[in-house]
Amino acid sequence: MNSRPEDLILARYDQSLGEFGDTPQGAMWPDAAGRTIRHDAMLDVLDRRPSGQVVLCDLGCGTGELLTRIRERGMSNITYIGIDRSRMALEHARKKFPGTTFHELDVNAAGADLSLVDCDYLVANGLFTVKHVLGQEQMQAFLESTIKTVWPRVRRGLAFNVMSKVVDWERDDLFHAPMDDMARLLHGLAGRRVRMHADYGLYEYTCYAFRDDRVPSHHQTRQPLPDAGEPVRVLRPLLPTMEKLLPYLQRIDAARIYSNFGPLVLEFEARLARHLQQPEGSVVTANTGTTGLVGAILAAAGRAHSDRPLALMPALTFVATAVAAQKCGYKPCLADVDADTWLLDAEKMASHPRLDQIGVVIPVAAFGRPVEQAPWLAFREKTGIPVVIDGAASFEALELDPKMHLGPIPVMISLHATKSLATAEGGCVVCSDIDLTTRVGQALNYGFHFSRDSRTASTNGKMSEYHAAIGLAELDDWAEKKSAFARVVATYRRHAAGTPMESMLITAPDVCSSYIIFRCRDEAQSLQVQHALAEHGVEFRHWYGQGLHHQTYYADSLHDDLPGTDALAPCLLGLPMAPDLDEYRILRVVNALRIGIEPR
Ligand SMILES: *Cc1c(COP(=O)(O)O)cnc(C)c1O
Repeated sequence: MNSRPEDLILARYDQSLGEFGDTPQGAMWPDAAGRTIRHDAMLDVLDRRPSGQVVLCDLGCGTGELLTRIRERGMSNITYIGIDRSRMALEHARKKFPGTTFHELDVNAAGADLSLVDCDYLVANGLFTVKHVLGQEQMQAFLESTIKTVWPRVRRGLAFNVMSKVVDWERDDLFHAPMDDMARLLHGLAGRRVRMHADYGLYEYTCYAFRDDRVPSHHQTRQPLPDAGEPVRVLRPLLPTMEKLLPYLQRIDAARIYSNFGPLVLEFEARLARHLQQPEGSVVTANTGTTGLVGAILAAAGRAHSDRPLALMPALTFVATAVAAQKCGYKPCLADVDADTWLLDAEKMASHPRLDQIGVVIPVAAFGRPVEQAPWLAFREKTGIPVVIDGAASFEALELDPKMHLGPIPVMISLHATKSLATAEGGCVVCSDIDLTTRVGQALNYGFHFSRDSRTASTNGKMSEYHAAIGLAELDDWAEKKSAFARVVATYRRHAAGTPMESMLITAPDVCSSYIIFRCRDEAQSLQVQHALAEHGVEFRHWYGQGLHHQTYYADSLHDDLPGTDALAPCLLGLPMAPDLDEYRILRVVNALRIGIEPR
């Protein structure tokens, strides 16, 4: 492993840190004042863009003292990443700055993961000032190799310092570099967009190279990084590409069947049933999740009767739950959710004061937290009231434990683009009671069943062959999509580790993979976090608003006391998520969260 000349510098540095601890001397700086001046010279690299969110990579960060200076100067637009080879130094750094990203990385090592360096600005302070026992050429080679390796990962500019040649005497153990050599290196990287500063009173100078904003860098051949001011989007769905869809589209062209129980829809339904370990015929697709819910309500409970006009549902849900019930003639009656589970409690609902006016109950799998069949079967048994589960975002929980969460009570799954498994628009209803699923199919097709006679309350809610094509392609690569989501979750978790954010992040498998939920302590903290997110260009969403009773159209719905919902809804912030969300964007989110939860 240790086979390059600069390894000796690392060893010397660790020795110094071991001896003097986390002090300027430990970092081989003579004094603290000089260190601050150098930090400020490094931060001058940002001069051209004084505002806007930027990621700054501190290469050779040591114990992370540059971050202390950044915080002192209140430069909250900087998301900081520290990189160093010294494990000892990083231990100090991580202790001082929990929640900040520090990578142990040797950029010159073969196979080094250079994506960890991706940044707007990179600074290397003191990385090339001490040459210890290295020769002048060895040091020059180390500097050139390092700078040329990291430059392609830098979007806007970099800065590093070396000792000056124009001094009364040169110290043997320091790297005094001729300005011409440095100029040649900088010009080779950045054309005319270079600077040198030697006006800050020390026996050294700082070199800067900048990218031309107008010329696209080769970054654009990789995953594009956002502009400094560009917001991090809250949810960027990623559905199967044209190539993945092509074989299915060719089958549609050949069959000339575009809807009405075509071969692709039938195959999709059969594959979903098998995937969820359910009997044949237990899955019925729909053109949206909301329509699927309409079909399930009509099949299970029929349209509302005047003696039972209410649909009981949690206040903490997406409006679709109320929309579907209302389409079937029911008036929503809003009940409170449990503050821990976020779900409706079946036992409590069995003694609801308006039970005799309730025609259907629609428990909701909040954010994909699944609803169990057993307590609702008991409820149905005891009260005789039909139950339909809005399991919109719970596909993953259902596949994980189908026995617990699927059965005779119909469960609607949404396949909207924002859910984890998606057909752009679409949904399905899963139920082991095949008579019931047959009636759902009938309700979604004009009430027809083996004849063109409309026999039941109905709508047209059928899924098209084109949407089934997306669903089939999505199932083909479902394992990969789930691992992609899991990688993003792991990155969020890694950056939150060891900080209060760790317990505030609610991620898969607790919720649906397409949600990252940040649970604030109370509304005041939530407002503070929302402010920080907005300030730092990070989009977020209250997926369920403040609860159904705060939606204008449903504001005068009947409702119970809703302390649980009122306490929860303002605190649950949906954060950016996408299967290909990169570390750069996640860092920007976590940085904003960290600032948001800092006590004021
Ligand atoms: C997404 C969602 C729906 C609606 O599904 P669509 O497919 O968009 O119609 C219903 N209920 C909940 C809880 C949802 O999250």
